[in-house]
Amino acid sequence: MQRRSNAGGCQRLFGALVLLALVAASVVSGASLLKGAAARSAEGEQVITDGLPGETLSIQEMEETITATQPAANTVSPQSLSTHTPVPSITATATQLPLLEGPMVIGYSIEGRPLEVHRIGTGPLAFMVVAGIHGGYEVNTVQLADELISYFYQHPDQVPEGTRLYILRAMNMDGLYKPDDADGRANARQVDLNRNFPVDWQVDWRRTGCWDYREINAGEMPASEPETIALMAFVLEHPLVALISYHSAAPGFYPSGSPPHADSAALAKHLAAASGYPYPARRTGCQMTGTLVDWVHTTGAAAVDVELSNHWDTEFEVNRKLVLALLQWRP
Ligand SMILES: [Zn+2]
Repeated sequence: MQRRSNAGGCQRLFGALVLLALVAASVVSGASLLKGAAARSAEGEQVITDGLPGETLSIQEMEETITATQPAANTVSPQSLSTHTPVPSITATATQLPLLEGPMVIGYSIEGRPLEVHRIGTGPLAFMVVAGIHGGYEVNTVQLADELISYFYQHPDQVPEGTRLYILRAMNMDGLYKPDDADGRANARQVDLNRNFPVDWQVDWRRTGCWDYREINAGEMPASEPETIALMAFVLEHPLVALISYHSAAPGFYPSGSPPHADSAALAKHLAAASGYPYPARRTGCQMTGTLVDWVHTTGAAAVDVELSNHWDTEFEVNRKLVLALLQWRP
């Protein structure tokens, strides 16, 4: 594991190939990469998915489409809330996007477990919450995501008109099924998924100040892991205003960029005011490479890591307010 990076040009070439592949995948409806996409209702999705992924609507353009996208006047039955991954028993006409949707399976882990996204709200301004990128080591982030999904299924009116919220409940599904300790941080190939994205990717990194309880790696190449590719494809197909990625436990906010990108830093400050988690947070000196938030920022979205206070509490009430604040934020 002492290989040194000499992959600069190769890395850029591979990144371009990955993006080409993702664009191709997004064009082929029902491709295996995007299993579950066929279950989506077509009408409302078209608001933001028409055209190639690179043709991202500006916020102003998105807001101009709000009036053309009436939220469905559907309600959820209480029976649909009996599990953490409820399937809403709603009816919708062929021309309306259901108010709730999920779980949508956006891809599969190495061991074949589904990566599930829930959508609440129908507006064109899309926000995303990702939990469990570090699997069982940070299992309380997945528990928090499940609580948020249950809450918003019961209170879909809390998602402001004009916005929609996507929640990926567990990005590292295989790590989630390892023992609930340090073993569960990496995926089934010992890859730290938060080192595998194709921005500033390095095959190895200086370990000073970094998490190093187990031998973990960044993957054979940028975006080598199916979990990484699934989330990239989803984000490219569903342009976001902002994304937060939950971790534990070093409380506070860690925006994309080093130094932080201005929009992500502004989002972190906004979320700090709503939640009480600190920003700026204490940094350990670890140099981050190949991270989710740095890649998401290249798509035009603000992106921030949020660290819970410890490894066991979901701190639900704090994070309910935090996510509501996320939905109010504009660049
Ligand atoms: Zn983490």
